[in-house]
Amino acid sequence: MSYAYDDQNIFAKILRGEIPNTTVIETEHTLAFHDITPQAPTHVLVIPKGAYVSFDHFAAEASEAEIVDYVRAIGEVAKMTGVDLGKGGGFRLIANAGRDGVQEVPHLHVHILGGRNLGRMLQPA
Ligand code: AMP
Repeated sequence: MSYAYDDQNIFAKILRGEIPNTTVIETEHTLAFHDITPQAPTHVLVIPKGAYVSFDHFAAEASEAEIVDYVRAIGEVAKMTGVDLGKGGGFRLIANAGRDGVQEVPHLHVHILGGRNLGRMLQPA
């Protein structure tokens, strides 16, 4: 399986500094920033700096260093935004992928949502 990465997607432009973002944290391999259209009091997107389309692409081809950095950054954002189970009320991670996942931006991103009760995971079909 090969994954076609479109380097004109909006998150690639953010990574190149061509459009602004509201950064929460930046690490060697990862950037986290506030979603431009928040759907909960906490709504942060976490993206790898590498050119990965989706979670399955990342899982297949990212280095161990990138994967560790990414997962730790997600945990750090949960802490920084106060939704982690250490002190907050919890959160939801969403990684939409492809057509059926209704992924709008074809660069891997995890949504971290929290700060209110998020209801059931999916709407009935
Ligand atoms: P998805 O449907 O999972 O691909 O989600 C894409 C997300 O990116 C949506 O929640 C958008 O609100 C968000 N988004 C799009 N453009 C920007 C931007 N320039 N800065 C921050 N978030 C954005």
